[in-house]
Amino acid sequence: MIVFDRVSKNYGDLAVLRDINLTVAAGEVISLIGPSGSGKSTLLRCVNHLERIERGSITVDGELIGYRRNGNHAYELPEKLIARQRARIGMVFQSFNLFGHMTALENVIEAPVHVLGIPRREAENLGAELLVRVGLADKLKSYPRMLSGGQQQRVAIARALAMKPKVILFDEPTSALDPELVGEVLDVMRSLAADGMTMMVVTHEMSFAREVCHRIAFMESGRIVECSTPTEVLDNPAFERTRTFLSKVQ
Ligand code: ATP
Ligand code: MG
Repeated sequence: MIVFDRVSKNYGDLAVLRDINLTVAAGEVISLIGPSGSGKSTLLRCVNHLERIERGSITVDGELIGYRRNGNHAYELPEKLIARQRARIGMVFQSFNLFGHMTALENVIEAPVHVLGIPRREAENLGAELLVRVGLADKLKSYPRMLSGGQQQRVAIARALAMKPKVILFDEPTSALDPELVGEVLDVMRSLAADGMTMMVVTHEMSFAREVCHRIAFMESGRIVECSTPTEVLDNPAFERTRTFLSKVQ
């Protein structure tokens, strides 16, 4: 579903992603862990071309992201086509990024109405269904400031789902939440995983990674150092660096 083929990215002299090869299968849930600055967010952001890559390629469902090939050359796609690709790749951030002047329901239907052109009434029905699904049946008309962090993050997940994404990328979705609100967001993510959604999740929640993710990729200095089942990576890491990292976070 998502294929990273020899992906490299620099910021000036700094190599942030180095030769990343990774295939995320349809329905697979993979978590990215690793120290601060190792490139986890950058890797996710490359999937919807929020960052340009210098070498290699990323495809989602067989479609080359951000570029069009012509012989040996790759040309960046026009903004309009990039927007079309992004529309089917959900992204959920640490800071929920809801529109403050819109209700929960309006937040969820904004893109379906304006980007996909779905009639408002139809989008409202879909949006209401999705808000029910994330446990917010009684909050359709609430504004973000009236919602807890966990509720806002669940609206953000419903908003991603409203675009019927092929994959959803989560970048530390629970890091900004008070501890007692983390569980409700992880529960929603767990149910998406059970429904077969393809997900890449940057997280520090090791118990979530262990229970829900099919594989865990450990990143350091722009490389995927190891990528295997939760049991392998968490209980029997092949590399000393993974071991050291885990001893600090677990
Ligand atoms: P964290 O756990 O702190 O979120 P991360 O693994 O997500 O870290 P990235 O945000 O992907 O790390 O950053 C990888 C590296 O790229 C870091 O060294 C960071 O300082 C650098 N970096 C990120 N964004 C930029 C930018 N816009 N310009 C220059 N350097 C950047
Ligand atoms: Mg990050």
